[in-house]
Amino acid sequence: MRMADDDAIPRSIRDKANKEDLLLTNLIRLSVPFGNFYKNERGKIRKSLYWVDNDISSRELNISLPEGHLARAIKAIDGTWLIILKQSPLQGEDASIVAHELAHIVLDSEGFPFIETTLDYRGDPDFESLAFSLNNLLQDPLVIIKLQSYGFELYKEYYDECQEAISALKKVNGRPDGIFGIKLTIDYIKNLLENDLLHFYQYDPCREYSILFEQIFPFIDTRAKKLHKMIVDLDYHQMSNITSIYRNIIDFFNLAEFLQVKNQ
Ligand SMILES: [Zn+2]
Repeated sequence: MRMADDDAIPRSIRDKANKEDLLLTNLIRLSVPFGNFYKNERGKIRKSLYWVDNDISSRELNISLPEGHLARAIKAIDGTWLIILKQSPLQGEDASIVAHELAHIVLDSEGFPFIETTLDYRGDPDFESLAFSLNNLLQDPLVIIKLQSYGFELYKEYYDECQEAISALKKVNGRPDGIFGIKLTIDYIKNLLENDLLHFYQYDPCREYSILFEQIFPFIDTRAKKLHKMIVDLDYHQMSNITSIYRNIIDFFNLAEFLQVKNQ
């Protein structure tokens, strides 16, 4: 996600940011996967990174974590990063959530292409939200793969995310058209990709979500499965394939006027 306005993180925020070493001491001490992840990955982030609590970010920047979220990484226009935390100090159980956000920043630092709105639609809430979903579509599964390689247990986040998706789905009224329908399709494809990586849990809430989705929106299901196949066939694990995958998706939904792929 990008900050809506202006360049760098304001001084008022930088001054109130948490000190990273103090903030993460507990996680490094209590979680072996986090300790290893941090040791190997943190150095890949070359831009400045500030850790701020949600109440400060809401007050000073007017940016708040969405309901139910515990952390989120946000990039300012100049490439500086902010991680908003629901609360600090952090507990051992926060390790995978914090690592998840850091892993997004690592992907970005490695040059991962990202989707942004075209100039004419910059700041348009519908298209900004669609760009956000598209960025997460390929990044989130890759973040999961990275965290799995460090031995993180991801069930809780997976469970929460799928429960959230199920309740969001139950609130949809009628046939979702336009941008909303596209966003729903994208989020569903992300679920299919994540399901490929996390389906082995005994109780799989995402299976429940997929079944519900197929029942309620069979026409979206067909469209989504076609795109899911394209993403897997073109091998989204290779960063060199990401731009073509994104271009295909943008063409598929006729979104070229609104969204573009930016290579860093
Ligand atoms: Zn994510």
